[in-house]
Amino acid sequence: MDVATEQTDTSASTSEPRRQTLSLVAIVGRPNVGKSTLFNRMIGQRRSIVGDEPGITRDRIYGEAEWLGCRFSVVDTGGIVPDDEAVIPANILKQAGFAIAEAAAVIWVVDARQGITPLDEELARLLRSTGRPVLIAANKTEATRLEREAAEFYRFGFTEVFPISAEQGIGLGEMLDALVEITGKAQTVAPELFVVPGQNDDGIEAGGTPAVPVEARAISLAIIGRPNVGKSSLLNQLLGKERAIVSAIPGTTRDAVDTLLETPEQTFRLIDTAGIRRKGKTDQMTEKLAVVMARKSMERADVALVMVDAVEGVTALDANIAGYAHDAGCSIIIVVNKWDALKDKLTGTPAEFERGLRERMKFLDWAPVLTVSALSGQRVDKILALAVRANEARNRRISTSQLNQFFEHAISQPQGGGAPAPVKGGVSRLHVQYLTQIAVRPPTFVIFTSGGRAGLHFSYERYVCNQLRAEFDFFATPLRIVERHKAKRRR
Ligand code: GDP
Ligand code: GDP
Repeated sequence: MDVATEQTDTSASTSEPRRQTLSLVAIVGRPNVGKSTLFNRMIGQRRSIVGDEPGITRDRIYGEAEWLGCRFSVVDTGGIVPDDEAVIPANILKQAGFAIAEAAAVIWVVDARQGITPLDEELARLLRSTGRPVLIAANKTEATRLEREAAEFYRFGFTEVFPISAEQGIGLGEMLDALVEITGKAQTVAPELFVVPGQNDDGIEAGGTPAVPVEARAISLAIIGRPNVGKSSLLNQLLGKERAIVSAIPGTTRDAVDTLLETPEQTFRLIDTAGIRRKGKTDQMTEKLAVVMARKSMERADVALVMVDAVEGVTALDANIAGYAHDAGCSIIIVVNKWDALKDKLTGTPAEFERGLRERMKFLDWAPVLTVSALSGQRVDKILALAVRANEARNRRISTSQLNQFFEHAISQPQGGGAPAPVKGGVSRLHVQYLTQIAVRPPTFVIFTSGGRAGLHFSYERYVCNQLRAEFDFFATPLRIVERHKAKRRR
């Protein structure tokens, strides 16, 4: 993923930014966590020095970045000197202090592989005292299991922790979305470009009621599936509906073009529509390319429409793509297309088709299935309403008091008697204490455990997810569970 850099003013490299017009984002963190790597990613040019040697001295370096039509200045608080333990803290704090004083938002980069260090604790205190909005970028999380390590950093009490890989450009989209929400009120590149309306936090108050209606924000919609399932036909149907205002907007990479679809109720951003329409004379995307595209667009999507072909049934490639959709964390609606062409339909046909589909896509058992005909338009008008509902669910925040009640009646035994043992075999002293929600998009919950040895059994996590889903209507949306374990101290 690249941040568009067309507007980057090269003269801004080491001079002061045009601070009167752009808000400033400061990148802070201890040495070697990947600040420069992230900085370079964000401004799209190699401008500061990246290296393993902690001896490299750098000045604060400024650049400009753009995301979703919002521009901002970025400062990399480098300038970190030798491996003399005593020198480092003072130096970091000084450097960070300068930048933070001027910043509209702070990206605090931490190393998820190393976990929390004493220096991080110190930095957290300093950052808290400034009162600036802080986004934590838990870097070096290429391996998915590291997302859990990243969640450790919620401990410092800042609202958002984003597992990212600065080096590989993973997870930056979400972080930048949040950044734009903080800094986005100030500047826009051009009025016709898409701008996320300024909102605080995620626009949701504890208790599940939107403070700002979720509708105020455009819903990013990805249409994915293997070649010939009917993606472009569906796109055309969607765009042809109602009194939609449609406009093309540049996406995040050079050749990605999104389409803005405005209906009276809601604005949708259809992701990378150029890719969907990009059909050469042969009218074929290779299957590999289809997967690559699907993965790319899901990274930016709130909701993905995973399309399958009713006539051909669910193929291995469909299941493959659906697997990535599951990992991506977006909400999912399975769209079974070409329903019109299915011969010999009987009363039981839809149910039977769904049984077969569920069998091939077991991990998406929470995703609703909709049968449509992109050709005739049959039931296509249902899609956007489902996407709105899914988007509401993925932004839903459940208050701690609601979760406590839920825990008592559905999870905690003996009342929640259906719950399986938290540990396989049940012969552990692991005790589940309570749970709390730490993030939205997708809703993420921490289960606090104590005693015994950490390690909730996946069937227990699954049980909790199912109960949460049923209780709070997390429609079409994946849920994430993180365990946080406190060992009992022995004396
Ligand atoms: P800074 O001192 O915080 O500015 O860190 P640098 O950007 O110079 O990066 C320090 C080291 O971490 C370099 O060797 C980078 O290649 C490495 N690094 C940066 N980002 C990542 C990442 O996302 N994953 C991994 N595995 N390594 C990274
Ligand atoms: P894409 O490669 O996924 O974008 O698929 P297209 O939209 O190009 O559709 C591939 C082929 O399937 C075309 O010949 C379409 O006319 C056909 N097709 C698409 N949707 C439907 C449908 O709902 N019913 C039928 N019978 N054919 C469809």
